[in-house]
Formats: sequence, structure tokens, C-alpha cells
Amino acid sequence: MSFQNPVFIPGPTNIPERLRKACDMPTIDHRSPLFAEILHPARDGVRKVLKSANAEVFIFPATGTGGWETAISNTLSPGDTVLAARNGMFSHKWIDMCQRFGLDVRFIEVPWGQGIPVARFEEILSADTSHKIKAVLATHNETATGVKSDIAGVRRAMDAAGHPALLFVDGVSSIGSMDFRFDDWGVDVAVTGSQKGFMLHAGLAIVGFSPRAVAAYDTARLPRTFFDIRDMTKGYAANAYPYTPAVGLMNGLNESCGMLLKEGLENVFARHTRIASGVRAAVAAWDMELCAASPDLYSDTVSAIRTPEGFNASDIVAHAAKAYGVAFGTGLGEVAGKVFRIGHLGSLTDVMALSGIATAEMVMVDLGLPVRLGSGVAAAQEVYRARPAIAKKEAA
Ligand SMILES: *Cc1c(COP(=O)(O)O)cnc(C)c1O
Repeated sequence: MSFQNPVFIPGPTNIPERLRKACDMPTIDHRSPLFAEILHPARDGVRKVLKSANAEVFIFPATGTGGWETAISNTLSPGDTVLAARNGMFSHKWIDMCQRFGLDVRFIEVPWGQGIPVARFEEILSADTSHKIKAVLATHNETATGVKSDIAGVRRAMDAAGHPALLFVDGVSSIGSMDFRFDDWGVDVAVTGSQKGFMLHAGLAIVGFSPRAVAAYDTARLPRTFFDIRDMTKGYAANAYPYTPAVGLMNGLNESCGMLLKEGLENVFARHTRIASGVRAAVAAWDMELCAASPDLYSDTVSAIRTPEGFNASDIVAHAAKAYGVAFGTGLGEVAGKVFRIGHLGSLTDVMALSGIATAEMVMVDLGLPVRLGSGVAAAQEVYRARPAIAKKEAA
């Protein structure tokens, strides 16, 4: 592999020079006022990226998976019922975690490539008149299939059913890249990590709690230690942690929020949509299909591309790495061997995306797929010419 080429995996994402430098800092005392100058601005920055006025932001030395555990263990009790949809590897793993915690998971099997079945959720929630369901789990962006689900729709379904369950949203591959509205959507816990939209190394679980979710702590009986939000809250009040924080990464997170907010969240989302549109135009030019079943489901951060029957999609990923030193995402779980993924989130430009599309074409031609060199690149070029990045930003 090459350290010079960008990666096209859907996380960890490319790290801008500025963020690498921000993470590279001398040791400071993590119980000093100097640490407070990193901690509090980083939490404020995350709150803004979440589009929330009141969310309590917790930052753990962990990854997104630790964020899932934070959501569950601080708000629920053994035997509690939760509702979820299983439509990809990440929703699958979150469900698995709930089961390991002894929760009663009512999950709906959804074909991979589809989104959360909002109408079905509404039926189930409406039928649950005794309010046994304590939380609804929603994976905003299924990174395995490139499917975006309708979180506003999930909230509407909960409201229509008059159901008081908490709404937990996995935004690991959407927050900071795709529109995410903590307050507007009535999200109770939002989960992400440092290595996707925030463009940093892996190492932080980043979690937002609504006041209701914080209050649920008082009655929740699942065991929690490392991810205890009450311990964390006490720590924050003293500009510190219950243990040793990942200070360099947190400095990077503070800087990352600054970058996203300076670009403007709407501009960040528009950039992701534009880049994704170019990738999708290339896929169409290759006469291939996305795993996502319909345009309303298309993710702006990752495209999972179906390869022809009988062809092992993982060969594309292996050959790209070996022959060109470029990383694409492999198929996971039920779509292993059937799709390869182009990650297009984080620190990415049109020009970088074009290099990824061009590489994918070389790989597919090398492997005998009926793709014409330059076809996808040309299609993406037309998208990017029609909506130039620089002019768009200046006009905004
Ligand atoms: C990457 C990812 C995760 C898991 O995050 P880790 O940081 O690897 O623990 C969870 N959910 C989604 C949607 C993801 O894309």
C-alpha cells in the first residue's frame, strides 16, 4: 500500500494535515486548566455539529462500539425491550450487543439494501400500549450497504404512536458528513466515533445524550463502569476525567469541529452530496447497481456497488491494494463477495474522488469485468463540472 494515496474505505477516513498536527502534541496535565481549554470547546463543537442546544456530550477513549454501549448501559435495565431493524452489518452488531446485555430485542429483518421500515415501527409501537419498549435503535447510515434511513420518519412514527421510548441513533458514518438533527428529530442518544466524519484516527467514542436520556440513568440497572456517564459528568465538572483522557485526539476533535463549522455544516453536507453524486454517476456508467434499493436511500458517505453474479467482489479490494496501493471497502456479512464499497466521506475533494473512480476502473478491467476505462471518470467529471466545488462554496 502507499501512504501517499487517499483511502476510499468508509472509515477510518483521510486525515487532513491540520488535524494530524493538532493530535500531535506534548503531554499536558489532564487535570489542569490547560486541559479544560480542550475539553469544553471540543464538547461544545460536537454539540453544534449534532445541531443541538442542550445535548450532554460525552467523549470516551473508545470507538463507536463503545458509544453503543454507553447508550445502552446508562439508560436500560436487564430484560428491557428494545426495537430495532436489522438491515446491515452495523445494525446487526448493535442488536447483538443488546442481546449480550440481556435485553429483549424485537428486531425486524429487513433485506440488506433497504432502510428502516418506518411504517412497521409505527404499527409495533402503536400496538405496544403498555409501553414495554424502552428504546428504539436506529442506524442512520448503514455503512455496510450504503443505505441512509429516515430518522425524522422514525421520530414521526414514535410520536404518531404516542410512544415514550427513547430514540438511540447510530450516526457513526453520518454525523459530520450528512445532515443530522439531534434536536429536530428528538434524538435521545446519538453515537459516533472520531475516525469517520471527524476525520481523525480511531480512538474516541463521541456520544450526545438528551436530558431525558440523562434522566433515564437514575432508574437504569444495567452495569456500567468505564462508560458511566455520571462519573464522566463529575469529571467534566472538575475539568477532568474519571481516568486518563486521550488528550491529543481530543485536541484534534476540537480542531475538527472548528473546520466543519467554519466550512459550514450545510456546505459540508453539500460537498458530500456532490462527491457522492459523481461516484453514483460512475456506477451507472459502469452499468452496475448500488446495493441501496432506491435513490431516497442512497448514502452520501459510502456506496456499496453490486458486482455481476459469479464474480467475487472482494477480488476488487484485494487487487486494488496489491496492484495500485489503493484501499476500497470490502463487502461485510450477508453482502460479502457481492459488493465492494467506495467510501466518500470526510476530508475528500472531487479530484480525490476522481482518482478513486479511475483506480476502480483499472482494477475492474484488470479483472475482466465489462467496464470501459474512463467511462465512470467521464460521468463523474460531468457531475463535478456542472457543480464546481469552489464556485459553489463562494456562492454559499
Ligand atoms: C464504523 C461504524 C461503527 C463502529 O464503529 P467502531 O468505531 O469501529 O467501533 C458503528 N456503526 C456504524 C454505522 C459504523 O459505520
